Amino acid sequence: MSIRIDEKSCVGCKKCVEVCPGNLIKIINDKACIKRQKDCWGCTSCIKECKKNAIKFFLGADIGGKGSLLSVEEKDNFRKWIVTKRDGSKEIIVVNMKESNKY
Ligand code: SF4
Ligand code: SF4
Repeated sequence: MSIRIDEKSCVGCKKCVEVCPGNLIKIINDKACIKRQKDCWGCTSCIKECKKNAIKFFLGADIGGKGSLLSVEEKDNFRKWIVTKRDGSKEIIVVNMKESNKY
């Protein structure tokens, strides 16, 4: 499992650094980068925390993702999980965060 960080979108706010439970992300020249890709266990904390949408999760063959990228967008109480496939098509799952612990 691994994440991908888009340097162009990253503003160096360090929020991803603060939430990574494995201390895997560092800031170099005001840009986030992951230290040891193979140590990432895909908790998605950094992806959810990045408000610039600069981090995506790579869904490789090991988990049946066929190279898709997972990203997150949030607005009001809703979180969108977006899977962008290699052909550019997208699958979107919308979660109402207010009700996500209801059941
Ligand atoms: S949270 Fe996003 S914008 Fe902030 S440092 Fe991390 S990747 Fe960059
Ligand atoms: S997905 Fe989790 S473990 Fe992996 S880099 Fe992000 S915060 Fe760290």
